[in-house]
Amino acid sequence: MPRIAPQPGIMDIALYVGGQSRVEGVDDVVKLSSNENPFGPSPAAIEAIAASAAQAHRYPSTDHAELRAAIGAVHGLDPERIICGVGSDEIIHFLNQAYAGPGDEVLHTEHGFSMYKISAKAAGATPVEVPERERVTDVEALIAGVTERTRLVFIANPNNPTGTFIGEQDLRRLAEGLPEDVILVLDGAYAEFAEGYDGGAALVDEFPNVVMTRTFSKLYGLGGLRIGWAYAAREVIDVLNRIRGPFNLSNTQLAAAEAAVRDRAYIANCLRQNATQRARLAQGLADLGIPSDRSDANFILARFTDAAEAEACDLFLQSRGLIVRRVGSYNLPQCLRITVGDEAAVTRVLDAVADFRAERGGAA
Ligand SMILES: *Cc1c(COP(=O)(O)O)cnc(C)c1O
Repeated sequence: MPRIAPQPGIMDIALYVGGQSRVEGVDDVVKLSSNENPFGPSPAAIEAIAASAAQAHRYPSTDHAELRAAIGAVHGLDPERIICGVGSDEIIHFLNQAYAGPGDEVLHTEHGFSMYKISAKAAGATPVEVPERERVTDVEALIAGVTERTRLVFIANPNNPTGTFIGEQDLRRLAEGLPEDVILVLDGAYAEFAEGYDGGAALVDEFPNVVMTRTFSKLYGLGGLRIGWAYAAREVIDVLNRIRGPFNLSNTQLAAAEAAVRDRAYIANCLRQNATQRARLAQGLADLGIPSDRSDANFILARFTDAAEAEACDLFLQSRGLIVRRVGSYNLPQCLRITVGDEAAVTRVLDAVADFRAERGGAA
């Protein structure tokens, strides 16, 4: 009978498990478990981080005006309708805290990002899982899943951990099919990797209940610094700003993100390399008899025969210093999620999987 007890729902939260980063007894390790940019941050961002050190005694800007202006200029968006957070995770928390509570439902897709569930429960709301169609977001199922209790619908597009993507027409059908008082959150953590995709920004302009979230953690290689942002109707931004801590982002975070978003040449090169190596990784695995869905992100979801084979391959890769992500907690125990590394890393993965298959009498 504890005297101090947390709010209902909190003890139901399963702790988030991050990608592994070490293997006992192996020195030359490549981490391909957290969808990080293998090339790291832009040199301009690194310089900005270093330069910010001398200003550590100063409180940071509370309105993030310079970073929002930079993001707005690069993406052609109104800076007044942008909010910045400690990773997009913080924005996901703001949305749940502001719009969902006990008795409310928060929809997410079958193999959706686990933060949606965690954050909904933290707000006291009830996460509701909606089936996908062969690992692809199912618009009709989401619309059918809405009840009078639904407050928020979260989808990641491209999705993590599946890598699959739904196009403009599907997104529009989803936005049109949801009640006006339900917020649709388009999590664009991997939006840049889907060629020609605006992350849903045009839909945000059209629908006051659509919110786009973005991050500096993946393509921009700044996951360690924690910077994300969202684009939404003024009314929504105003609500979220009321619960945002005034100094939620440090000088260093702000400076790094601004330099990173302005360095378009660096980003263009990272995107090119990702596209090339992603195709190589997917094709190489397919040649070994390991299929994956078309990925529009910076990772591949490799599908093995069964959970036992996926686990055995994971252990084999670890013994070679290659850390990938098991996705049993996403209900995909027969799969491994492999971040697209640089050319050498992809070669190492393909060689190791080929050896794994050969040792087992090769199905390839
Ligand atoms: C990595 C990721 C994020 C980004 O989280 P940050 O808090 O910005 O680091 C958000 N959504 C999805 C689906 C992700 O995979």
